[in-house]
Amino acid sequence: MYLPDFDYYAPATLKEACFNLARLDGDAKVLAGGTDLLPHMKNEVIAPKALVSLKEIQGMQEITYVPGRGVVIGAKATHNALVRSQVLRDRYPSISETAHSMANYQIRNRGTIGGNIVSAVPSADLPPILMALDASVVMAGPHGTRTIPLEQFFVGPRCSVIACDEILTDIVIPDQAATGSAYFKFGLRRSGALAVVGVAASIVVNETRVAQAHVVLGAVAPTPVRAFKAEQLLIGNSVTEALLEEVGRAAADECKPISDIRGSEEYRRDMVRVFTKRALRKALHLPGEQKRGVK
Ligand SMILES: Cc1cc2nc3c(=O)[nH]c(=O)nc-3n(C[C@H](O)[C@H](O)[C@H](O)COP(=O)(O)OP(=O)(O)OC[C@H]3O[C@@H](n4cnc5c(N)ncnc54)[C@H](O)[C@@H]3O)c2cc1C
Repeated sequence: MYLPDFDYYAPATLKEACFNLARLDGDAKVLAGGTDLLPHMKNEVIAPKALVSLKEIQGMQEITYVPGRGVVIGAKATHNALVRSQVLRDRYPSISETAHSMANYQIRNRGTIGGNIVSAVPSADLPPILMALDASVVMAGPHGTRTIPLEQFFVGPRCSVIACDEILTDIVIPDQAATGSAYFKFGLRRSGALAVVGVAASIVVNETRVAQAHVVLGAVAPTPVRAFKAEQLLIGNSVTEALLEEVGRAAADECKPISDIRGSEEYRRDMVRVFTKRALRKALHLPGEQKRGVK
């Protein structure tokens, strides 16, 4: 498995990188960690004429809290940087935990949050938890920048709204009073396995009632999807065992899984039911299901 020939550019600025991409008019790919792109090229799935590397561009990897804006994550932040970030551990530990559940140490050292989003693989782990937290993405192009909700970014498997001359620069998670958030993933191995099913939840409880709820399902539709009916069942209600069961069933009804070598449609649907309950329990800081012996 050899890489096909390609031209290589390593511009020093974002502007130059966008200019290169525009000039190459769809024949180039952005190179971040390369953990998705290079295997894809080796497997002859794609053969771009050129790669435009983000390596020499300063910044784009910080994880900071900006008062009034929220947590801003540079697209070049690696998964291990998400795991180690004190800002995330303090505010959104669910993101650090999700990053820790991905791949293996070596891949986490190279793979970036930007690459995980732009690759738009339906089973990618970070998009569901970021969507559950209402994240937006910032893209730079030759004519300036634009910001859109991450929820509007994905179009289909490996397909998104980013233009071929745009670069994802930041992911922004707005301030919110979330009681908690969590991501649960089922893979076929303990580590390094892509999600067969992933469920993210973020929830706000005022007094005893749910004020806001986001439930996002990964790997069970062409893109990550919100489980709106499940969310609506939660709003305004107190969380009980019976309600969690109902919400889990609603989420299972809302997904559109395929059957493949990693799991049948029926199995995935049932896992969505179970994992929705687990993610909500964790987001609500309730004891885990396994400990309680409840299925
Ligand atoms: C062994 C192995 C295990 C893996 N395990 C997991 C896993 O558990 N969970 C999971 O979700 N993924 C997993 N992956 C997939 C991959 O590692 C991740 O999706 C990673 O985050 C991709 O990031 P990258 O920086 O390597 O992207 P790259 O490979 O460099 O790029 C991926 C795509 O995004 C584009 N791109 C990258 N950055 C930008 C940007 N800033 N702006 C515009 N376009 C950009 C590239 O052009 C390319 O199309 C695994 C991969 C391997 C090889």
